[in-house]
Amino acid sequence: MTYQSDHFKKTISHAKEYGFVFSSSEIYDGLNAIYDYGQNGVMLKNNIREYWWKSMVQLNENIVGLDSAIFMHPTIWKASGHLDAFSDPLIDNKDSNKRYRADVLVEDYVAKIELKIEKEITKASKRFGEQFNQEQFIETNPRIIDYKNKVSLILSRLNKSLEAEDLSDVKSLIEELKIACPESGSRNWTDVKQFNLMFGTKLGASSESSIDLYLRPETAQGIFVNFLNVQKSGRMKLPFGIAQTGKAFRNEIVARQFIFRMREFEQMEMQFFVSPGEQKKWYNKWKETRLSWHLSLGMGQDNYRFHDHEKLAHYADAATDIEFKFPFGFKELEGIHSRTDFDLSKHEEFSGKKLKFFDPEKNKNYTPYVVETSIGLDRMFLAIFSWALKEELIEEGNTRTVLKLPAILAPYKVAVLPLLKKDGLPELARKILEDLKWKYNISYDEKDAVGRRYRRQDALGTPFCITVDHQSLEDKTVTIRDRDTMNQERISFKEISGFLEDKLNIKNWLQKI
Ligand code: ATP
Repeated sequence: MTYQSDHFKKTISHAKEYGFVFSSSEIYDGLNAIYDYGQNGVMLKNNIREYWWKSMVQLNENIVGLDSAIFMHPTIWKASGHLDAFSDPLIDNKDSNKRYRADVLVEDYVAKIELKIEKEITKASKRFGEQFNQEQFIETNPRIIDYKNKVSLILSRLNKSLEAEDLSDVKSLIEELKIACPESGSRNWTDVKQFNLMFGTKLGASSESSIDLYLRPETAQGIFVNFLNVQKSGRMKLPFGIAQTGKAFRNEIVARQFIFRMREFEQMEMQFFVSPGEQKKWYNKWKETRLSWHLSLGMGQDNYRFHDHEKLAHYADAATDIEFKFPFGFKELEGIHSRTDFDLSKHEEFSGKKLKFFDPEKNKNYTPYVVETSIGLDRMFLAIFSWALKEELIEEGNTRTVLKLPAILAPYKVAVLPLLKKDGLPELARKILEDLKWKYNISYDEKDAVGRRYRRQDALGTPFCITVDHQSLEDKTVTIRDRDTMNQERISFKEISGFLEDKLNIKNWLQKI
């Protein structure tokens, strides 16, 4: 078993064991790709949402929030193109009866070649040591050139056939590359078919009068159809943004990667409306701002990369993904799309209502262009959680499991621990808790030896433990232990809130972006 998949398994089991993520309806054997967040997971999730919301809405005068309904008029999905084009190419293996996304089978094949390239580079850098010139090596090594050519040929053929809706060529590509089903090992494939990802439902009491609806597959359309309501009632001037977080639903063909790809998930989206012609500038600005937001959490620059799209969606004139290094490799975490005036124009056409902005300076009406930032809350949760989970060697033969969550996002900021369950220590500890709980989520624990309690808090990601001991009774001091360094310092009661404020004030985090 590779380290990667081993780490991913540990991530999933840790999430369950410590009350972060459970399979939905577990006692009924669960539902595929649907998950519930437990007592600690919900706090981490709320904190991520708040960190995003504050950075978007609170810190930008020209971005406002919205909470639109999940049910929307069905014509919206006709106008947006989802009814006709929101589908993935699927293929079944006849021997295992497993279903795959045809494009993902090809992309996984390509990822394997890219892994070979990485291995060649690592091997060579070890061989040449300090003199190693990576750039030159990549440009001149015949094996790498060969691999790279292969990758680009495969991807451009895949993109071309998907764009032309030539699904039989996608199948031919899979056959030519001799891609086998990971489950059965066989190459006995069905034809490739398009599969619409929207879930249908019905609205209305009687079968004659009910109308067919869809569960929204993205939150963005709720923003577009409210564009004029918000602009007029908020007297907004371009450029301005509307941000929203909420559930989205997609009947994903393959959903086997825990909360990476779910059928019910939550998005955090912001549509930024700009004058036509300014979209490129704002697209670049949001690319930069969103990456800085990620970097502000301190998970390391090397874990992120941009993947600019060659094949653009029907509505976009530029698009990129911020990819994160998940335990199973670099994958999309967030999308940034320059969506042109496509959505507003289409809604204008289908609704018959004007959706234009009156620009008092230019004294004319026009349809704004839109730059969108769209991130999956659950995917962000997985990125943080899998990155944060570490096994550390602490002393001879002893390891600890620690969840090094960015402190600002941790479910509990502080655990208050009386050293013993007697001598007035619990009472004093509770006093400290009572004082701090107005500002922070605090955990209180008096069971077991203090060392075991530290381990428990490490596994939950609590950044600080305050321990109350006999000395506390005498001189009004406590020890405060740092989760990451395990260092303990003694501070007075009076210093506690200043100490925490310095580490947990959101300003100290978000002002980095
Ligand atoms: P993918 O290529 O992974 O299917 P996408 O390009 O369809 O994603 P978008 O439509 O751009 O994704 O959605 C924006 C964001 O929503 C994604 O970057 C991702 O973080 C999140 N997201 C999309 N689909 C899912 C899903 N099924 N489960 C969890 N998060 C998702």
